[in-house]
Amino acid sequence: LRQAEEQAAGRAAWVCYEPGMAAGSPLAEQLRRAVAEGQLRLLYQPIVALPDGALAGAEALVRWAHPERGLLEPDAFVPLAERIGVIGELGRWVLHEASTQAARWQKRMPALQLNVNVSPRQLDDEGFAGQVLGILERTGFFPGNLVLEVTEGAVIGEPASVAQLAVLSNAGIRIALDDFGTGYSSLRYLARLPVDVLKLDRGFVAELDGTSRGGAVAQAVLRLGQILHLDTVAEGVESEAQARELTLLGCHKAQGYFYARPLPPSDLERWLPVDDLSRYEAEIWGPEV
Ligand code: C2E
Ligand code: MG
Ligand code: MG
Ligand code: MG
Repeated sequence: LRQAEEQAAGRAAWVCYEPGMAAGSPLAEQLRRAVAEGQLRLLYQPIVALPDGALAGAEALVRWAHPERGLLEPDAFVPLAERIGVIGELGRWVLHEASTQAARWQKRMPALQLNVNVSPRQLDDEGFAGQVLGILERTGFFPGNLVLEVTEGAVIGEPASVAQLAVLSNAGIRIALDDFGTGYSSLRYLARLPVDVLKLDRGFVAELDGTSRGGAVAQAVLRLGQILHLDTVAEGVESEAQARELTLLGCHKAQGYFYARPLPPSDLERWLPVDDLSRYEAEIWGPEV
């Protein structure tokens, strides 16, 4: 009997902990405190111009430096943060941290674009647009250099969310549709959204194999972007062949392991142009060795 009880308890704990990520689970309780306890980190993945591969910007990607489990990827805690109502606070931290960092970087590279992911739940908060503008003002990061990434699902049939994006767009912030092609892709709707950038989902990039069939969706999405005069970015570019084909299809920018993984800030800085001060120092002292 004892053994059976222990087994049942073990199973119950497993059910609660692993797939459930339930609101009352230990992980949820830890996540509630993670922001205040300074456990979140941002990595930055370069976004490059095609075909030359020059740095155009970066996407901020959140990680949770969990005290026992190590560095957790967003799939392990962003959905949980949405469910337990912590995503607003998490998203505010991400925006503030990314803006603070990018305000420094834009001194070395005034055209640097910084992409930040926004959860649909953040757009439910009617104070969201005001919050973003306040953060930009406090950190000194230029609105024209911020790109907010949203998914189609966050805005289709959500007039209040679209209205917030319109406010942000009018302030000069750029809006990108993330994972484009995987959602509803309501084409009639797209033309009316305040959108500046299409991010081609990496699933379609993976299908690029040099045949017209493999590249059909990528080609259609990129063509749509051209017709609507949108900036196009391919996600998940892992090979030179993919980069070449995307260039032929007229894609403007690319992001993926072929160029760089998501990087800690100090590594992203090596991608930035040398600033005037360090060039001056190099003239006096000679190049760093
Ligand atoms: P996403 O916005 O589509 O971000 C791109 C994801 O693809 C990142 O995963 C990135 O590491 C990964 N990736 C980049 N290049 C390649 C490649 O060449 N091959 C492959 N296989 N993968 C590549 P990550 O960092 O695990 O983020 C996953 C998702 O979590 C993001 O997808 C985004 O939807 C969400 N996310 C990340 N940071 C935040 C955040 O600050 N707030 C919110 N709300 N969501 C976030
Ligand atoms: Mg990942
Ligand atoms: Mg994204
Ligand atoms: Mg994406």
